[in-house]
Amino acid sequence: MPELPEVETVRRSLIDKIVGQRIRSLRVGDFPGILAGERVDDVLARIAGRVVRGVRRRAKYLIIDLDDDTAIVVHLRMTGRLSAVPRDEPTLRFEHLAIEFANDIDLRFSDQRKFGRVVHAHRDDLDRLDQRLGREPLERGFSAAWLEERLRRRTGKIKAVLLDQGLIGGLGNIYVDESLFRARIHPERRANTLTPEEVRRLHRAIRGVLRAAVDGRGTTFSSFEDAEGNRGRYGRELLVYGHGGKSPCSRCGTLLERAVVGGRGTSFCPRCQPTRG
Ligand SMILES: [Zn+2]
Repeated sequence: MPELPEVETVRRSLIDKIVGQRIRSLRVGDFPGILAGERVDDVLARIAGRVVRGVRRRAKYLIIDLDDDTAIVVHLRMTGRLSAVPRDEPTLRFEHLAIEFANDIDLRFSDQRKFGRVVHAHRDDLDRLDQRLGREPLERGFSAAWLEERLRRRTGKIKAVLLDQGLIGGLGNIYVDESLFRARIHPERRANTLTPEEVRRLHRAIRGVLRAAVDGRGTTFSSFEDAEGNRGRYGRELLVYGHGGKSPCSRCGTLLERAVVGGRGTSFCPRCQPTRG
């Protein structure tokens, strides 16, 4: 499931392919729901002839800015994938949409599970999206002091709180489990019971894990690839995610455990991450 590092990786792999390029057309396959209720002709009428000014990321959203102050917003969700391919490339597996550019590159969206969406958004929509998303964990505004102040007001389990996109934008199941392990915090601890020292460790862990994952071009657990078809390399660095019940803790040798926390499969070390701080 693409999280911040994977979406950032896709963003970087797209820049050379589509920035400065003019949109020629738009094709949608047999799943029109990809456009979130909009009609292909309506979207095409608005984006045809527009030039891509830049590609940004906000939390787990990819935002393709156009030269009329609108943007194409892509949410990969579970299995969505963007591929920049030559026009004559055969239709991809699970391909639902293609944006055709004047340089004969197609930006194609494929998605086995069909949860992903591609939406043409105006300024107001973009502002609303920005407002409902929390802080970017790799930007300045995400400080240990800010995190401590926010967690003090939250009584939910720390894992669920960290997954809340309205608090921190871009964290998902993989990087929350990895961050909590590195910070030695049990995923079921109540957020407001963390000590200042634990919050500082958590803050450092979140940043460290995300930076390393971006450097490793993301994690490919099942299907993730960047826009050029490269798989992520960070998977081999994962210390707990996917290892619960299977591998010993890399720090103490205890068998890692698997539990469901906040409705999500969760891996942790019962010894290094005690239920009490
Ligand atoms: Zn351990």
